[in-house]
Amino acid sequence: MTAWDTTVDVAIVGSGGGGMVAALTAADAGASALVLEKQDLIGGSTAMSGGVVWVPNNPVMRAEGVPDSYEDAMVHFDAVVGDVGPASSVERRHAFLTAGPEMIAFLQRLGVRFAYCRGYSDYYSNAKGGHDLGRAVEPVPFDGRVLGAWLDTLQPGLAKSLGLAVMTNEARSLSNYNRSIGAFAVSARVALRTYAARLRGRALLTNGAALIGQMLHVALDLGIPVWTQAPLEDLLVEEGRVVGVRVVRSGSPVLIRARQGVLLASGGFARNAEMREQFGGDQPNRAKWSIANPGDTGEAIQAAMRLGAKTDLMDEAWWLPSPRTGRFGRSTLDQARQRPRTIYVDAAGQRFVNESNSYMEVGKEMYARDKTSRAVPCWLIFDDRYRKRYAHQRSRPGWFPRKLLESGMVKQAWTVRDLARICDIDPAGLAETVERFNQNARQGTDPDYGRGESAYNRALGDPNHKVHPCLGPIDEPPYYGVQVVPGDIGTCGGLVTDDHARVVDGAGQPIEGLYATGNGTATVMGRHYLGPGASIANTMVFGYLAARHATRERRHA
Ligand SMILES: Cc1cc2nc3c(=O)[nH]c(=O)nc-3n(C[C@H](O)[C@H](O)[C@H](O)COP(=O)(O)OP(=O)(O)OC[C@H]3O[C@@H](n4cnc5c(N)ncnc54)[C@H](O)[C@@H]3O)c2cc1C
Repeated sequence: MTAWDTTVDVAIVGSGGGGMVAALTAADAGASALVLEKQDLIGGSTAMSGGVVWVPNNPVMRAEGVPDSYEDAMVHFDAVVGDVGPASSVERRHAFLTAGPEMIAFLQRLGVRFAYCRGYSDYYSNAKGGHDLGRAVEPVPFDGRVLGAWLDTLQPGLAKSLGLAVMTNEARSLSNYNRSIGAFAVSARVALRTYAARLRGRALLTNGAALIGQMLHVALDLGIPVWTQAPLEDLLVEEGRVVGVRVVRSGSPVLIRARQGVLLASGGFARNAEMREQFGGDQPNRAKWSIANPGDTGEAIQAAMRLGAKTDLMDEAWWLPSPRTGRFGRSTLDQARQRPRTIYVDAAGQRFVNESNSYMEVGKEMYARDKTSRAVPCWLIFDDRYRKRYAHQRSRPGWFPRKLLESGMVKQAWTVRDLARICDIDPAGLAETVERFNQNARQGTDPDYGRGESAYNRALGDPNHKVHPCLGPIDEPPYYGVQVVPGDIGTCGGLVTDDHARVVDGAGQPIEGLYATGNGTATVMGRHYLGPGASIANTMVFGYLAARHATRERRHA
């Protein structure tokens, strides 16, 4: 007989989006839940993120009169994701599309507030069933003071590093504040909100921090315990069923019995170099470029694998092409590929992708190209008009931080051929590519890769740039080049789960008592990022389904 230290209905490993939704869902069903977080900060990558959640036909967009349907979204999954095996089976897509809107409505009922991300298009808006206006929501700004001392235990969000209370769907306007009246108005609103909050002494959270902050607030109100510094060590099994977990707390092992189930909502393994190397396949990665939270190290996946859990898509990640600006921190060059006067090229000087497409797609194309011509890293090329028009590293437009040039991170030359030489790119190849790109860009077309043809491409371009928001010639010297590596915001392959988020074994049978969601699972999105918020939606919806299933079993027990 196990000498349990404590007993709950549902033990939840991980305090990100999936874990927090599951805890609220279990509590709402009258079950006791316990959230176990290994780090000293709550919220995982979800709290650090944009907090955007992609849920087709959600109640927030419906309330704004924006049309959408289950059928369109299902067609869209078929058109873009295709057949990628059990992770994105018809049953799991059906579960995602039916439970998604319910999950948002459920959170709204508990007091979590969302805003519609109008204009933040699906990433494949041109594909069948795609949505130009977008299917995403994000949390409204939330005053973190109501969390009391818990506020200091939240992972710092995106906006904190900017020092602005900016919502994610507003952020793209900030860099265009000097180019369009609409963008100026949004930027002014953000500035007003930020300074008003400061004057009133409010700790205004936005993005992922507002999402986790709001859910944590409800969890605390409902009396759900959240233990930090409590890493899962192993899953405990009796008669073939997972019945609990062993965690370490204050240096000692604690045995927790979970009567109705254990949910692994513990993220992926983006920060585990050995696992990335072992499972990287054709997309090798040593975890050097990930910006996922530091706790994303995969022990929970390994614990489930020891029980015979099936895995899939382990080589996949939510890729994020990242210009290398090294110790100078991230720069706004991340957004360059979506703006005019830029291209990505391989070592032969050739383009290989629609640069404005989703970050996951561009990252995957870098790996695919690298098989025939070096594209990991590839190069971002731009001209001086680009430099003058946009802000770099939170500076004013046109001012290029000297340290980026002096360090050699950003290369500069007066001719395209000279730039190619110092970047170790084929000079003739690059000169030819730039000439062809320029000819077409002046007409606002890209016959080679269709850049700028989708609503998504245009939404992230420069709204006031003539003749096209995503296209412009690279023709004003000096020219610049920066290496780009396939970073990521998390891995997205892992445990195979069914439509109730139950982990399955090699024979496809559920491992009783064990559920998983989020980046530790093989995602329903397969190998594509369908829209802004696709990964947080994945973790939240299946967290909701897991808790519902576990607590339904409880009622029937
Ligand atoms: C800067 C940035 C911006 C992003 N923006 C967006 C966005 O706007 N929309 C979107 O959809 N995606 C976004 N993403 C990606 C998204 O944040 C993640 O894919 C998603 O939040 C993962 O959710 P999760 O629940 O699987 O894991 P997480 O949110 O990472 O939560 C997992 C938690 O489990 C904990 N844990 C791990 N192992 C253990 C263990 N052994 N014991 C106990 N606890 C453990 C971790 O410490 C972590 O806190 C962004 C990511 C980043 C980094």
